[in-house]
Amino acid sequence: MPPFRLLNLVLCGALSSACSPRDSRESLEPRAPVEDAPPESTTPVVTRGGDQARGPAFVALAWDQLRIVLLHDGGHAYPPDFVLGSDLAADPAARAELGLQNPGDSLWLPYSAMAVVTPESTLLIDAGGARSLFPEAGRLAESMALAGLSRDQVDTVVLTHAHPDHIGGLVKDGEPAFPHARILLTKDEHDHWLSPELCEGDGMEAEMARYVAATFALLGPAIDVVVPPAEVMNGVKLLPIVGHTPGHGMVEVATPARSLWHVGDLFLLPLFVTSPDLRPATIPGERAALLLEDMFRIRALAEEEGPWVVASHLPPFPSLGTIASDHVWRSHPL
Ligand SMILES: [Zn+2]
Repeated sequence: MPPFRLLNLVLCGALSSACSPRDSRESLEPRAPVEDAPPESTTPVVTRGGDQARGPAFVALAWDQLRIVLLHDGGHAYPPDFVLGSDLAADPAARAELGLQNPGDSLWLPYSAMAVVTPESTLLIDAGGARSLFPEAGRLAESMALAGLSRDQVDTVVLTHAHPDHIGGLVKDGEPAFPHARILLTKDEHDHWLSPELCEGDGMEAEMARYVAATFALLGPAIDVVVPPAEVMNGVKLLPIVGHTPGHGMVEVATPARSLWHVGDLFLLPLFVTSPDLRPATIPGERAALLLEDMFRIRALAEEEGPWVVASHLPPFPSLGTIASDHVWRSHPL
């Protein structure tokens, strides 16, 4: 499959802007007001391993009964106009912010997944891409092994959405990669991609629908649907943030320190956090309006409530940070 076709399969519809991550002086300690500061015991122990730039790699935040593991799946180099749209990709200021100095420069975006591990359960959020489609991705299993996790221990996979760079890792050598896991996604997402009308159509969306259908056919009864908002595990909720795809979900995880919001592909690049109106131009009509609405809504909520925010492709891995009141994404210096 030609490289550009791969691109189309990847971030489907994501036209965003990116910028290099900004320095942050914030630590992983809770950022609540002083009078509400949680006790010292809520500060997680942070460990990491692997090649943090290209993967495989992991970053883990651990408390007594909870471990959150950010897992590097690798990444993909995109033509800037695919991610940004042609106008923004040609804008000198945007290109400078993204470090795109030459006309042929590509934009590298990391791919990631996240595990929520308790004594009773291991939940995985997204599964990364298949290496057959994305030659520099598909490193999830290696990253899990570095973190001391196995595919066999995963009992639940929650998909933020069903694009190929999030579901490709569900299958390994034609078999379910997580043989003991149920695979959860929103009903709207499931029904959109498995719509016969879409699967039989033409174009990028139809091509992706056929990929989803083929992948889900291999997974059979493991596929399960849920209507958000819904609690998928104790302390883990799936909430709707529609737009990037028709049934895109956000996963909220309660930790002893603060909430963590995994927002999937809501924000593809830090530039879109600051300027949501530069939203992905490839997303069609009505969905573009929904995406814009949710980008502003989630940004405002994040600024008000101060959660950790994880987004699948925000550079650099581990794509975890906070959104400050000045509308700026600040990556944590893990
Ligand atoms: Zn994605």
